[in-house]
Amino acid sequence: MRLLVVEDDPDLNRQLTTALTDAGYVVDRAFDGEEGHHLGDTEPYDAVILDIGLPKMDGISVLESWRRNGRTMPVLMLTARDRWSDKVQGFDAGADDYVAKPFHLEEVLARLRALLRRAVGHAKSEFECGPVRLDSRTGRVSVSGNPVKLTSHEYRLLAYLMHHNGRVVSRTELVEHLYDQDFDRDSNTIEVFVGRIRRKLGVDIIQTVRGLGYMLAAPS
Ligand code: CA
Repeated sequence: MRLLVVEDDPDLNRQLTTALTDAGYVVDRAFDGEEGHHLGDTEPYDAVILDIGLPKMDGISVLESWRRNGRTMPVLMLTARDRWSDKVQGFDAGADDYVAKPFHLEEVLARLRALLRRAVGHAKSEFECGPVRLDSRTGRVSVSGNPVKLTSHEYRLLAYLMHHNGRVVSRTELVEHLYDQDFDRDSNTIEVFVGRIRRKLGVDIIQTVRGLGYMLAAPS
């Protein structure tokens, strides 16, 4: 899952980015409204954390513009604690949820997980396909109850497929959602990761759809 953090406070931006990266997300960052607006308008993010008070272009204007341009990714706003008017404006502009500053990072992570699940119509933090279970809260994967150790790249790929279970996901989409903008985007890498995940799981739930990409299917 690829996220964008738009926050002008350098310490807060770093704390958020570190916590999100540790939690297994790929994170791009912006430090002002214009830069954030441009990234959110052009890159395919799974969710955005957007501060309201930003230099160059405020968060509300950024969000309004994204929504006008048809950008529908979930947006979690960061607001000042006692500015209820910020929250009202934010929701009216198209925000999906908010966290008031100062916040606990755990709360941001929990709200993000909920937004990401809701975006794909999934109510629980656990995903299943056949005997494979993936818990997006703990980052654990198991097959028939036995834990499987995946690297962070492998986990991200499997988690993305689990979130989009039921449809074909192209290699391009995976590359766009699993790597940040500086990554050398070679789609052969995806095949290598898929091969490793198949070996580690020992059951083949990742089907290759020729010419299109991958799709999860429970083994019959
Ligand atoms: Ca700010």
